[in-house]
Amino acid sequence: MTPLEYDRTHIWHPYASLKDPPRARFVREARGLEIVLDDGRRLIDGVASWWCVAHGHNHPAIVEAIRSQGEKLCHVMFGGFTHEPAVELAQRLSRIAPPGLDRVFFADSGSIAVEVAVKMALQYQVAKGRSGRGKMMALAGGYHGDTACAMALSDPDGMHVLFEGMMPRHYFAAKPGTPGALESLRRVVEEHADELAGIICEPILQAANAMNFYGGEYLREMRALADEFDLVLVFDEIAAGFHRLGPRWAAEFAGVKPDVMTIGKALTGGHITLAATLASEKVADTISNGRPGAFMHGPTYMANPLACAAACASLDIFASADYAAKTAAIADVFSRRLAPAKALENVVDVRGLGAAWVLEMRSLPSREDIDRVIDEHGVWLRPFGKFIYAMPPLVAGEAACRRIADAMLAMASCPPGPQADGDFHE
Ligand code: PMP
Repeated sequence: MTPLEYDRTHIWHPYASLKDPPRARFVREARGLEIVLDDGRRLIDGVASWWCVAHGHNHPAIVEAIRSQGEKLCHVMFGGFTHEPAVELAQRLSRIAPPGLDRVFFADSGSIAVEVAVKMALQYQVAKGRSGRGKMMALAGGYHGDTACAMALSDPDGMHVLFEGMMPRHYFAAKPGTPGALESLRRVVEEHADELAGIICEPILQAANAMNFYGGEYLREMRALADEFDLVLVFDEIAAGFHRLGPRWAAEFAGVKPDVMTIGKALTGGHITLAATLASEKVADTISNGRPGAFMHGPTYMANPLACAAACASLDIFASADYAAKTAAIADVFSRRLAPAKALENVVDVRGLGAAWVLEMRSLPSREDIDRVIDEHGVWLRPFGKFIYAMPPLVAGEAACRRIADAMLAMASCPPGPQADGDFHE
């Protein structure tokens, strides 16, 4: 059995069956914008390996930071110990986070950072003597991760319906941009205020479920409601943060500050898993002054030193260049290059912001056509649902962006394929 055959029959890939799974390409290495396959072919990573690669794959400074940290301390439990990479990273995050969000919980993935944020909201309310407030308000069309609590906060009709029976029920406002959606925020909060601990959303871009861009007025309304009803406002910046949409944080579009913010993905520049939940002093103090006082979460690999060192190196690189300008240049290429897609029969909408660009299709092409375009253009794309999208590394230059956009156009020009099961994201 070749390694690839073993992989096909024994190793689950994301959202894939072990029976007739979609093709997995064997990767030898990755460098800069490119993923290098074992036969030497190269693919430009048009989706930044699920949106986390910011400065290119295997950035030498980040690789070096991991290597030199590894010589000193690869891991130690965070219960009872601390270390320089964790303290340095926390201090540096507090300098770039929205002002006041300087209390940090290090988590090991985005989904866990979301679970932690929700537990913070709940413990905040419990500390205030409101133990009946165990629900969140979330937005239809959202996505917050694949763990149970994060799934329960994601679009109720989305990819997680299968698990409905085991999930807690939360309350949902309408998908931003649909009729009456802005008003539905207040309606849901007023109806359920006694049960709500907080509000959670992906600011400006609902990514993995809907690829839906929406306006800052929703964030301002959520802020006003959270203040009025003493709810914890959580912005999930895991996908949109670190300049994916232009500014460092998506919430900057609205000039709104949350009480709690989750970050992940590009935190280490896409080199090693790490996420964080940042909280305001008010949230942290309330939890700490309540009962039990302790915040009740603590994963084994919390604040892993290798990951924290990688994140510090990534923050150095972010600080060394104007990433908002890089993102604007990416937006410029995609907006021009994708314009002809509007005329394609199978394309319903073309939209984008910063380094996130989407062709919404009537229906995706067949898996064979998608694979053929990837191979012919040397561009890695991973369409899902009804979306052909690009989220390239933020350092993608004009030539690479043109190639990615051209591959998207070629894919969108293919005939619609049969609807496949598990055409889920991310
Ligand atoms: N929140 C958002 C907004 C995301 O886009 C994702 C991942 N796509 C997550 C949370 C979950 O992150 P992870 O896959 O690292 O658990």
